[in-house]
Amino acid sequence: KKITIAIDGFSSTGKSTLAKQLANHLGYVFVDTGAMYRAVTLFAMQNGYIAANFFDKETLINSLPFIKLVFKYNDALGHAEMYLNDENVENEIRKIEVSHFVSKVAEISEVRSKLVEQQQEMGKDKGIVMDGRDIGTVVFPDAELKIFMTASPATRAQRRYDELIAKGDSITFEEVLENVEERDYIDSHRKDSPLVMANDAVEIDNSYISRKEQFEL
Ligand code: C5P
Repeated sequence: KKITIAIDGFSSTGKSTLAKQLANHLGYVFVDTGAMYRAVTLFAMQNGYIAANFFDKETLINSLPFIKLVFKYNDALGHAEMYLNDENVENEIRKIEVSHFVSKVAEISEVRSKLVEQQQEMGKDKGIVMDGRDIGTVVFPDAELKIFMTASPATRAQRRYDELIAKGDSITFEEVLENVEERDYIDSHRKDSPLVMANDAVEIDNSYISRKEQFEL
């Protein structure tokens, strides 16, 4: 019998890493919901709706019907990639510029309801591992397995920093740490679907365990 696995937690706690391992092991579909919020943010940036000290929320909300988000599986890479209006944006959405604005976009109720609806549709047949901030609380409150991941901010920032440097971004550790802490703050304090651990979730702190140990756990 197939089940639904919801993985939530703070930024850069390795949610996607664990979700991918589980999906591969079980033959389930993996969905990274952060990629969807990032793609909406990229759309807002490309159209000039959001910039430093400027955010035209109204226009972004009115444009939501024109934002098409699709995950396409890439056989060579062995994972899905995010397409925004038929354009592959997988690399662009991971950049720090997008990370700077994404939590502000994710606060908007209209954005959340559009994405939550699409996520529920993707998971309606079960056999899915979905990671995000509100999967066990809002998207799939009846998920059979809920995991909540944490790790110290320094550990998380170091992992994200190593990832960005490996991709060739020029960035400082402090900038990454600041972004991780800022996003956690906004995500935990927003009015609509704040980041909280579901009552029936299993908590994993992976500050001191390896990917392999975490998967075995
Ligand atoms: O998971 P990732 O770090 O890529 O998510 C980027 C941002 O998208 C988060 O910091 C959060 O603001 C938002 N998000 C959300 N709800 C989700 C997934 C992501 O609000 N389910």
